[in-house]
Amino acid sequence: MLLSACPRREPSPTPGTTHEPTVAPPGRAPPAPTSAAFGERRAEREALVRDLAGQGVKDERVLAALRRVPRHAFVPVSVKGMAYADQPLPIGMGQTISQPFIVAFMTEAVAPRPTDKCLEIGTGSGYQAAILAELCQRTWSIEYLPELADQAKKNLVALGYQVALRTGDGYVGWPEAQPFDVIVVTAAPEKVPQPLLDQLAPGGRLVIPVGPRTEVQGLERWTRKQPGQGADAFSRDRLLDVRFVPFLGDGGR
Ligand code: SAH
Repeated sequence: MLLSACPRREPSPTPGTTHEPTVAPPGRAPPAPTSAAFGERRAEREALVRDLAGQGVKDERVLAALRRVPRHAFVPVSVKGMAYADQPLPIGMGQTISQPFIVAFMTEAVAPRPTDKCLEIGTGSGYQAAILAELCQRTWSIEYLPELADQAKKNLVALGYQVALRTGDGYVGWPEAQPFDVIVVTAAPEKVPQPLLDQLAPGGRLVIPVGPRTEVQGLERWTRKQPGQGADAFSRDRLLDVRFVPFLGDGGR
């Protein structure tokens, strides 16, 4: 199956150095977020989730998270009307919020648990980070483009999500917060960044689109079986053919 997660666009200008607009410091699990947006357009979310279940998404916790998180609060005004269509939408800077099926499929593939530490690479709108924040104990997310990082921070804070955010190249992961039980990468490098594999906890799951920027990429899941970097340390499954926006920066090549 070939799915378009983020339509291909040219990369935008490179950002400056990494800084750390952390929304909340690491600590205990955040309280359940509240905002009027959670009560809006619920029938549309319910219909979308029924459609995703019909497409094969089975994990009830993942479906509940998609039922709860108001996707319309993560997209620009110009496309709000389409927020509950199962398709990617533009979020500015040539980037897109992924198709809901892809978000659900990738999240199900890494099976986040309430005690897990989760890292996302490619914050974009903040939507996938919010889904992870619903399912994990703590969530970290890195965005390369400062304009999108600022908008994502506003989106997440307005809804009450406590996600640690950083602007910079996700190639290097988040060394100070490792190891992670779950890593979700939402832009496609040509090969899996070694630092992300290194930051995976024993039993940890990484889901990532991998492949050339002009061709179909493979959505891969890497599971850490044991410590170390050797071939025995990980198992790898290829899950789906996809098309994601390219991984920005030099590391993804
Ligand atoms: N997960 C996002 C959508 C992903 S689009 C959401 O839920 O809205 C892919 C995002 O990855 C874009 O915002 C892009 O700027 C970002 N990105 C690309 N390369 C990156 C890198 N090297 N490090 C961090 N973010 C990157």
